[in-house]
Amino acid sequence: MKCPYCDSVNTSVTDSRPTDGDTAIRRRRTCDVCGKRFTTYERVEHTPLIVKKKDGSRQSFDRDKVMTGILHACEKRRVPLDEIEKIVSDIENALSNTNDKEISSTMIGEYVLENLKHLDDVAFIRFASVYRSFQDVDSFMQEIEKLIK
Ligand SMILES: [Zn+2]
Repeated sequence: MKCPYCDSVNTSVTDSRPTDGDTAIRRRRTCDVCGKRFTTYERVEHTPLIVKKKDGSRQSFDRDKVMTGILHACEKRRVPLDEIEKIVSDIENALSNTNDKEISSTMIGEYVLENLKHLDDVAFIRFASVYRSFQDVDSFMQEIEKLIK
């Protein structure tokens, strides 16, 4: 670790202790050349989850946005809130565990649909109509027929 005062790379750690509720390590360092002291912190690196949209643009994963979309589809339906929260948490966990640096918005949409299908038919159709943006009445009817079977 380079000394911020004299740019020497010869510095020693004189003290090291956990801080911020054990989420970081604080180190006191002394420069071996100029003798000045400074502090460094070590923290876990959180890579942001990136979502790639249909038009090719990218944005960071927004938990609230997914939640709002599902809530909207479940309006006036008897879908328990903790079931909705579970879907969002599952998506977030799946995203964190994937080795890919980004995930497509379509994959998120399909995942939500897959889960809504088991919870509430109306919420499923509402969400599908937004996410799959049905081109025509036929594709909409196909989806409903699949549901009835
Ligand atoms: Zn120095």
